[in-house]
Order: sequence, then structure tokens, then C-alpha cells
Amino acid sequence: MKKLALHWKIIIGMVLGIIWALISSSMGWSAFTINWIDPFGTIFINLLKLIAVPLVLFSIISGVANIGDPSSLGRMGGKTLGIYLLTTIMAISLGLLLVNTFKPGKLMDEQSRIDNRISYEIWADAEGYQIKDGINYLKDPAFLERAQEISELSKSELKEASVADKMQTAEKSKESTPLQPLVDIVPDNFFSSLADNGRMLQIIFFAIFFGVCLLFIPSDKSKPVLKLVDGINEVFLKMVDIVMQAAPFFVFALLAGVVSKMAGNDIGKVLEIFKSLSWYSLTVLVGLLMMIFVIYPLILKLFVKQIPYTGFFKSMSPAQTLAFSTSSSAATLPVTMECVEQNLGVDKKISSFVLPIGATVNMDGTSLYQAVAVIFLAQIHMIDLTIGQQLTVVLTATLASIGSAAVPSAGLVMLIIVLSSVGLNPAWIAIIFPVDRILDMFRTVVNVTGDATVCSIIADGENMLNYKEKDPAETFDLDS
Ligand code: ASP
Repeated sequence: MKKLALHWKIIIGMVLGIIWALISSSMGWSAFTINWIDPFGTIFINLLKLIAVPLVLFSIISGVANIGDPSSLGRMGGKTLGIYLLTTIMAISLGLLLVNTFKPGKLMDEQSRIDNRISYEIWADAEGYQIKDGINYLKDPAFLERAQEISELSKSELKEASVADKMQTAEKSKESTPLQPLVDIVPDNFFSSLADNGRMLQIIFFAIFFGVCLLFIPSDKSKPVLKLVDGINEVFLKMVDIVMQAAPFFVFALLAGVVSKMAGNDIGKVLEIFKSLSWYSLTVLVGLLMMIFVIYPLILKLFVKQIPYTGFFKSMSPAQTLAFSTSSSAATLPVTMECVEQNLGVDKKISSFVLPIGATVNMDGTSLYQAVAVIFLAQIHMIDLTIGQQLTVVLTATLASIGSAAVPSAGLVMLIIVLSSVGLNPAWIAIIFPVDRILDMFRTVVNVTGDATVCSIIADGENMLNYKEKDPAETFDLDS
């Protein structure tokens, strides 16, 4: 009998997870699901992350050392960063186009928007911002009483713990000097970088440095090191194969946990949450789906003729389904690497270098979502952002997506910085917070798909792409 492809098994796991969560919440068993099933989802993410750091380290060292020529490495690095930047800017522009065309925020009723605007003015007044556009409601006697009521209300809303927590994290990254991101790439102690999954760029820096130095030492010394590195690399790849065998079950646990945490013992709540933010969510989703089904296929058609549209999706589907269920490009990285190498036929020398960088700095889905979210939040507060402010959004969303860690909800934290850059209240992230986890799943798929697309372009440009149609059921086969 023909084996069922892994991504189908993962999708079945996901669907069963959601069905289980719905049953358990209607039967009042949510606590059971969270206590006894959800932890397996966490174990899965831990396993993947556990593999990701050493895999990145050893595969970059081997990739760089096998390239054999530091100058071609420099050229490839420049190209990689340039194309990553271009796709990010395209994603943000698409987000801005959609949110300015659909205007999801303007569908909210007039009275709520006026109330929102008053609360914004109260906040802006306290922060010392000048309100330039439209009516100043605080100066209008007809609105003064309402302003007082709202002022009391918003004080208590801002205290929401989960939001306050995220604000603190964002504040920390804002306080640094302009060159701090560069400083952060160079570790002062390599072992402490290994001990923290958030420091992927430091590991990449060290691995490139190490790989380049291997090129400069006599070959009788470098060969055994390289052999060892290649061997260790194989071990980690086998670990990915083994973990992926159990992926459908783990994904079931992950989804059951995520949905149960949202719904508690009341399924209706999930629907309620979505109803109020449906237009915003829809705009983000349309943008993300357009990236996956229009923009990336178009880019592939133009620049990578070898890989057909359907072949690309078939090859990447295990990574895409995993990105969806884990909401973390870092956790998905080991699988992305295998899909790109084994199924798309990208040479390891390219993928081992381009993909880990992409997982850390290239987040097209996150940047598109940030652009839509900022404009939507402005719209529901009756604020029209000028073209200049929208350009600021392009710039800060690009930087924020680069700075976002490849873990769940990182994009939401960095949104605080984008909001602040155009004088909006960062606490508004609380408004879109309820639907964020679900949108995170979709934007992570885009992030991973974008990395694979760019990786194929670079590989094709370097003549290191050898695509052959393959049965997807063979991916992660233990005997391969
Ligand atoms: N979860 C996303 C990722 O890992 C980042 C984000 O948008 O929150 O790619």
C-alpha cells in the first residue's frame, strides 16, 4: 500500500487535536487537556529546538568550509541579505495596500471609534504628543464627561498582566544604542550563546568564523575536523527523522493544548473573539495567503525555472505544516533544512548558510502582519496615518521583523516598537492579543516559505540546485 505522506499525517493530527479540544471544552475537560495532553506539545517543541542549535552550528561550519572560497561566501552573504530584505519590503507593502484598501478598522461602529479616539487623546496628552489631525475631542465640551469615564477605564485596562509583560520586553530592546544589534551578534562567550536559544545570530557568527578559519589552516589539520563535523551533522539529521516519525501525535497534542487554552470550558468564546476582530484577521489572512499562493510562486516562476509551483509545495509541506502547528520558525528549522535539501535539491553548502540566517532575520509574514495591525489599530481610533508615517511603518516593521525572535508571539512584542514609532499607544496590542496566537500560526508558515523561496533563488544563482520530483512520503524516512 502507498504510504501516506507525512504532511497528511500531520494535518490529520492537527484536525484531531482541534476536534479533541472542542469536545473537551464542551464536556468541561479543558483542565485535563491542558494538564495531560498539552505537555506533549511542549516536549515536541523542546525536541526540535534542542536539535536546531547544534544543527545550525555544525551545518554552517561544514557548509562554509566546503564552499572552499571565502570570497564567494561574502558574495553569497550579500545576496542573501539583499533578497531577504526585498521580500520583507514586498510583504509590508502588500500588507499596507490591503489594509488601506479594505479599511477593516473603519467597519467598527462610529461611537466605539469616537470613544477609542478620546482614550487615545488622553494617552497622547499624558505622553506629551501633539494631536494634529481631525477634531480634538478633549477640547470639545460635548465629549468631556465621556473622556473622564474612559480615562478611569483605560487605566485599569492597561494593567493587564500579559500585556504589561510584553511591554517590558519591548522596552528593553528600545533602550539600547543604534549599533547594539551589531554588538549583540558578537558573543563574548560562545558557551553562553549555546545556552540561549534566542542567540541564534551569535551562533551563526561563530560558525561562519570557525568555518572560514578552517579554510586557512593546513588541510592535514582541517580534514579530520571537517570529517568530525560532517559526522555529527548526520547524527542530528537522523534525530530530526526520528522526531518527525512521531510528529503527527505531537501535533495533535499541540493543537489540542492551544485551542483548549483559548476556549477554556466555553467553545463559544473562540467564536466571540473572532467575531469582533474578524475583518482585521481576514485582512491579515488574505495578505498571508497571497504571499504563499501568489507572490512566492511568482518569484519562483521568474527566478527559479527548475522548480514547478506544485513541486515546491509538495516538497515544503512537512515544514509548512510544522510551522503552522508550532508557530516557531526556529523549532521548524531542522525540518525546513531537510525539506529544502532532500526535496528541493538545494546543495547543503547553500541551505546550511541561507536557512538559519533566514529563520532569524527574514520574517515576511510577521512584517506583513505588523503593517496591517498598526494601520488597523489606528483606524479603530479614528487616526489617519500620513504617507510619511506609513513609510516609517515600512522601516520599523522591517527592523522589527528582523529583531523578532523565531518563537511564538515574538511578532506581537515587536509590534510595540512599530506602534511607538508613529506615536501610537503600544498598549493597543491588548486589542488584537486574543486572535494573535492563531494568526501567528499562519504568519510562521509564510516566514518559513519565504526562507525556502529565497534559498532556492540563491542556490539556482550559484548553480547548486538540482530539483527532481520525489515522492513526499519518502521525506524523513528512517532508512534514507
Ligand atoms: N512565530 C513567528 C516565527 O517564529 C514570529 C512571530 O511572528 O511571532 O516565525
